[in-house]
Amino acid sequence: MQRPITGYHKDDADDWVAELSCGHGQHVRHRPPFLLRPWSLTAEGRDSMLGTQLDCVRCDRLEMPDGLTPYKRTPEFEEGTIPGGLRKNHATKAGVWGVIHVISGQLRYHVDGLDGRELLLTPETRGIVAPEVLHHVAPDGPVRFFVEFHSRGA
Ligand SMILES: [Zn+2]
Repeated sequence: MQRPITGYHKDDADDWVAELSCGHGQHVRHRPPFLLRPWSLTAEGRDSMLGTQLDCVRCDRLEMPDGLTPYKRTPEFEEGTIPGGLRKNHATKAGVWGVIHVISGQLRYHVDGLDGRELLLTPETRGIVAPEVLHHVAPDGPVRFFVEFHSRGA
């Protein structure tokens, strides 16, 4: 899915990495004649590309970025106490990732904003919620679960 560039840093090999709003990084190498990104070589060029959308396949795969810290969690819900907001399409804010932890039973997790995929969450399979991606959950029999929120922090 498309994510805007929010900043840059250099990796250990001295190559420029674009930081995306989701928390993932993506190399923006200039390697003529195969990779032409002359803009990545200057501060002005990089600044001019802030906000440009890049395709983030790690978001498509629902891979949580490294270096996030949990900062909040919901109360524990059961099949009869799932808030209406979680059962309708909703999304977290930019940069905020969620982890759905099923304690017992199972829960259906619909990722409507990505490709409509449906995942069955169990205590062995946690659900990863990518920032700004519409999703909802539905009970499938008895279940107990909570959601934990992660961000880059201060
Ligand atoms: Zn991403």
